[in-house]
Amino acid sequence: MCVFCQIIAGDIPSYKVYEDEKTLAFLDINPVSVGHTLVVAKGHYSNLEEIPFNELTALISSVQKVGRLLKDKLGIDGYNVTENNDPVAGQEISHIHFHVIPRFSGDSLDPWPRRGYELEEAERILKKIIG
Ligand code: 5GP
Ligand code: ZN
Repeated sequence: MCVFCQIIAGDIPSYKVYEDEKTLAFLDINPVSVGHTLVVAKGHYSNLEEIPFNELTALISSVQKVGRLLKDKLGIDGYNVTENNDPVAGQEISHIHFHVIPRFSGDSLDPWPRRGYELEEAERILKKIIG
């Protein structure tokens, strides 16, 4: 069983933030910021491509609830929602989960360096995607 399945089964303890029939939310053991919460599907689906649509709907609905909860109760200024797909994108645990990461004004967290497009690069990429 994967780590998150063990948490869902109660075999590994966690600090539960929210739970319903299809989802569980708990504090990340190694938070980016205090209150960093993971929202996981109770079914074991490896990533966004594997999870059935009705389970995904339940999962994103719980992400919305957790975001509201953290905002209401912790007084955070905002939050990032991320979901890593595959190891190259930083996915360590192969069981779909969304991160809800509290943000505070002036926290200086900037995880996404940007690059520009070179001449005609955007057109070439778009053609590959939709052409
Ligand atoms: P990923 O990199 O797969 O998107 O995120 C996995 C997250 O799970 C990481 O942020 C990591 O800190 C967290 N994590 C890993 N093992 C445990 C655990 O046993 N308990 C809790 N609460 N979080 C965990
Ligand atoms: Zn699992």
